[in-house]
Amino acid sequence: MFTLSAHDRVVAVVAHPDDAEIMFYGTLRIWRDAGADVTVVAATHGTNGVPLRDRLAGTRLDPRERPAENAKSFRDTGIMVECLGMDDGTLTPDIELVSAIEDTLTRHRCTVLLTHAPHGGNDHQDHHAVARAALNAATRVPSCTTILHGRPHAPHQGFTPRVLIDITEYLDDKIKALAEHRSQAGRYYLGEPYTRWRAAGEAWNTLPGHAAEGRAFEALTPSLLLVSGAEIRARLPCTGPTPFLRSTEGTPV
Ligand SMILES: [Zn+2]
Repeated sequence: MFTLSAHDRVVAVVAHPDDAEIMFYGTLRIWRDAGADVTVVAATHGTNGVPLRDRLAGTRLDPRERPAENAKSFRDTGIMVECLGMDDGTLTPDIELVSAIEDTLTRHRCTVLLTHAPHGGNDHQDHHAVARAALNAATRVPSCTTILHGRPHAPHQGFTPRVLIDITEYLDDKIKALAEHRSQAGRYYLGEPYTRWRAAGEAWNTLPGHAAEGRAFEALTPSLLLVSGAEIRARLPCTGPTPFLRSTEGTPV
């Protein structure tokens, strides 16, 4: 029943410059190729995305480096990429973060918000902060009628998928996009083995028949989902204004 509409204005609000690709690269590509406006917004520039020992040894990332990797991973897709330029590692869902996200959703007249899971177990603290701030901000953006959360890559995440998006045709592109994050090279969740395992695993856990056919998926769960009456009627086998109503004789009325 859930559909990806060409009329949607999709905004993916995430904490770090690689999060959108990990959680919903294929989903965003499908939406964009269907004709929707799609924007990825990373709250932070991710300069603290280096191991602690390297940071202590003086390794620093340029604030432009990871946003540039983000933009490169979506190049030639028609998907816009923005960065709010905040510091990573210490995000909190305070007035600054909530207001920045609200401004972004309003500016893009967002109809569909994709973000982190608000109860993602031991997921990164910045992911939790962005999820809570985005949910807060979206309540004041009337155009935003659908909110979907992506599966965290942390273990023990307590995430239950309710929406599966078939990204089989985009899986190879997703692997290439993740490889563009060269400053983060070596992290398991950006590598091809994990990406293929995760995309197949979503279906083995929920729709094993589809997994057996080699399909690949991204898993989402909604906290708000609006399906219009027109979409419902378009999918029903019979036409008429009240197809569910029947007379006591069993004749359609
Ligand atoms: Zn992240």
